[in-house]
This record gives sequence, structure tokens and C-alpha cells, in this order.
Amino acid sequence: MKDRWDAIILGGGPGGSTLAASLARLGRRALVLERERFPRFHIGESLLPHSREVFARLGLDEKLDARFLRKYGARFLCSSTGRARTYSFADAFDPKFEFAYQVPRDEFDLLLLRHAAELGAEVRESWEAVEVVFDGPRAIGVRARPVARSGDVAAGERTAAGDVVELRAPVIVDATGRDTLLASRMRRKAQVAELDKTALFAHYEGAAREEGVHEGNIQVVIFEHGWFWFIPFRGVVTSVGAVVSSSWIRSRGKGETLDELFDRTVAQSSWAREFLANARRVRPVGALADFSYRIDQLTGDGWLFVGDAGGFVDPLFSTGAHLAIKGADLAATAIHRALDAGDTSRAAFVGYEADVRYAVDLFLGVVQGFYRGHFRETLFEENQRPTMRKLITTILAGDVFHPERRPQWASFLQQHYPPELPAFA
Ligand SMILES: Cc1cc2nc3c(=O)[nH]c(=O)nc-3n(C[C@H](O)[C@H](O)[C@H](O)COP(=O)(O)OP(=O)(O)OC[C@H]3O[C@@H](n4cnc5c(N)ncnc54)[C@H](O)[C@@H]3O)c2cc1C
Repeated sequence: MKDRWDAIILGGGPGGSTLAASLARLGRRALVLERERFPRFHIGESLLPHSREVFARLGLDEKLDARFLRKYGARFLCSSTGRARTYSFADAFDPKFEFAYQVPRDEFDLLLLRHAAELGAEVRESWEAVEVVFDGPRAIGVRARPVARSGDVAAGERTAAGDVVELRAPVIVDATGRDTLLASRMRRKAQVAELDKTALFAHYEGAAREEGVHEGNIQVVIFEHGWFWFIPFRGVVTSVGAVVSSSWIRSRGKGETLDELFDRTVAQSSWAREFLANARRVRPVGALADFSYRIDQLTGDGWLFVGDAGGFVDPLFSTGAHLAIKGADLAATAIHRALDAGDTSRAAFVGYEADVRYAVDLFLGVVQGFYRGHFRETLFEENQRPTMRKLITTILAGDVFHPERRPQWASFLQQHYPPELPAFA
């Protein structure tokens, strides 16, 4: 009997919803199961320009431009030396995408998920995927349940809250983000050494931001114990976060609240103090252990990982949502072709896996280079060569998925900042 869906996607974040929208656009029947009911808060609010290539294909341009602040570049500031350097996306090797967006994720994720539904994907919120069902090595379905009474129910279906049902499709995609549903079960996840950071974050009104066309720039403030992000939204709210070392977290005093710890962290940096001098916190401080991890296999017979479910690189260069969005775009093409050919075995997805792996490892190498110090120096170099500036800008713009450019600038980066990969047990 033919399955009701061509693909079941677990998770409705940017990865899951982009994949669902892309498959629907290709005429495929996609089902998204999302555990939460949107809108919901999520971290990861600064996008990269080259995601817009995917947004344009999905007809999202106008919706995004109407709601979100444009981000034309990134400014890096060093608290100990006072150095500052702005990179404008217009200076990249390929300046086609001059800007990205700064997005409160509750609004952005809701917009993407609704858009996927408008294009024809079936979306069920308040549905939790419990486990992927296998027949030998092949994924054939998922066991899932509606969470509480709010779980969406399809016409003609009788499912009470908590009842586990089995849903089948020839392709199952894990897009559950840092929950890594399937990779955790398969024990395929390894932490990346030295990137054991913790993130503290909040929203502020009235934080200092740049002016004019640079208003939407992300500002990255480096200080002794890590770095801060300042991500301005349209209006008056700015997202502020600190990614800090585990030793700084261990300095937390007994009884010190997260709000107090955050204030003490801000006090360590002259730039951060200055940016927040007239600001008011409008969201309590949250915290997240922010380990980078890598997963040793991203595809199998009838299954794929998309976005954070397939690996996570420290957020220094705001790469996570882009990897999820662009990865989903590539996954949609691979799934569409595999279904056409009637072969959804792993062989059909190895090209997707290679492209995503390449981009993730490129970012990972540069991030490791930053924490070890040498890439940080390159970032602020006094007499930086124009080609180096273009190269860094191209990375910051997320233009890392073009195989034809690998022999040029990308191989240079890989030689200078080769990723140090975790060992798998
Ligand atoms: C501190 C920090 C700062 C960051 N800053 C940035 C940034 O500035 N820019 C950027 O691009 N990225 C940033 N990121 C990364 C970014 O948050 C992620 O890369 C991005 O959200 C990945 O999208 P995704 O769709 O793969 O996963 P997610 O956005 O996490 O979506 C996964 C979805 O799956 C759902 N789900 C989970 N388990 C289940 C289940 N069992 N059943 C059904 N649904 C399930 C979840 O509810 C969630 O909605 C940051 C990350 C961290 C930790």
C-alpha cells in the first residue's frame, strides 16, 4: 500500500519547515511533527545573507522584508585592545546577497512553518516524535503522540492526547535540533573538544546600536572570558548574549542568580558596559550549555538528518540557522530525486551528506582557529590584504556551499584552519 506521505519531518524549526516547504513546492507530500505550539522562544536570531537564495525560491522575500531588520554586515570589537573591524556583505566574493535579517525566532519560525503549510505541507504542532521505526537498517516510519489536548488532529483521525501512533513514509527526516532524537539513540554524537561553552542571553530595550544602513549589523564583542553578541531587532529590542568558558561559569557564586551572573559578565567588558549603559532588560536571562558536536553519519537507508540534528558549530559566526536552511534545501532536492528514482537508500543521499559535511567542517575549522587565537588576529589585522577581507566576508555571508569554489578560497581556509574533528567511540 502506498504511504500517505512522501516524507515525515520531525521538528518544525528552520530546518524542518524549510524542508517541508521545499518538498511541497516540488509537489511532494510532507508531514511535519512539531512538539511545541508556535510561536515559542528560540535562540539563534541572526541570519546569514546566503539563506536568502532559499527564501527567494520559496517566495518568502516580501514576508521577511516586511517584518525583519536587514543586517548588512558584522562588526567585531575587542575589549582588551579596543580594536574594531566591520565586514560588509557587499564586499564578499559574490556580493549578490548584500544583507540578511535579524529575527526574533518566535515570529520567524512561526512564519516559516505557516508558509510551509500554505505551500501544501501538512503541519501538526504539539506532536512529539517518540522514536523512528526501522525494518532492518531501513527507516520506515515514526512513532509519535499528540502532546496534551492541543495536538493537531487530521480529519477522520481519532487520537487522544498521549496515544502513540505509528506513521509511515519512505523517507524520515530528523530535524529535532539539539535534541538530536535519532543520533542520540544511535550513539553517533561526539562533542568537539575545547568548544565546551555556555551561553547566557536576554533581550534589552535601548541597547546602543549602529546607525543608518549599519543599524542591523550584528556586533560581536570579544572579552577575556568569551564573547558577546548584540543582535538588534526592528524596533527597540536587542538580543544580547554571552558565550563564555566553563571556567567563567564555575566562578558563579553560591546563590548568584542568572541575572546577577549576566550583569557580572557584562561588567567584564568595556564595550558591553557601554552598549548597555542606558538599556533595560525585558526578558529574564536564560542559559544553555552550548557544546559543539559532530555526528559521524548524516544519512542512511530512508533517513536523513537536517540542521542541528546533524551537528552544531559554536554560534560565533551565526551559522546554525543557515546550515539548517541551506541543508534543508539540498535535502529536498536529494529526496525528490530519490523518490523519482524509486531508490531511497543511503546511496541517494551521499551527495547531500558530503555537501553539508563540507560546510560544517569549514565553519568548525575557522571557529577553532578563532578560539586558539590565530584567526582572531587575522580578523583584526592592521594591514589586511583585500583578498583576505573578501574571504572572511564570504565566510560571514555563508557562501560555503558552492563546490566549484572549493579549489580557490575554501581550500586556502582548510589548509590554514583545518578542523580538528572529535573521535568517535
Ligand atoms: C547560544 C546559541 C546562539 C545561537 N545563535 C545563532 C545565531 O545568531 N544565528 C544562527 O543562525 N544560529 C544561531 N544558533 C544556532 C541556531 O539556534 C540553530 O542552529 C537553529 O535553530 C537550527 O535549526 P533547526 O531547525 O535545526 O533546529 P531548531 O531550531 O532547534 O528546531 C528544532 C525543532 O524540533 C522540535 N523538536 C525537538 N524534539 C522533537 C520531537 N521529539 N518531536 C517533535 N519535535 C521536536 C523543537 O521543538 C524545535 O522546534 C545559536 C545557538 C546557540 C546555542
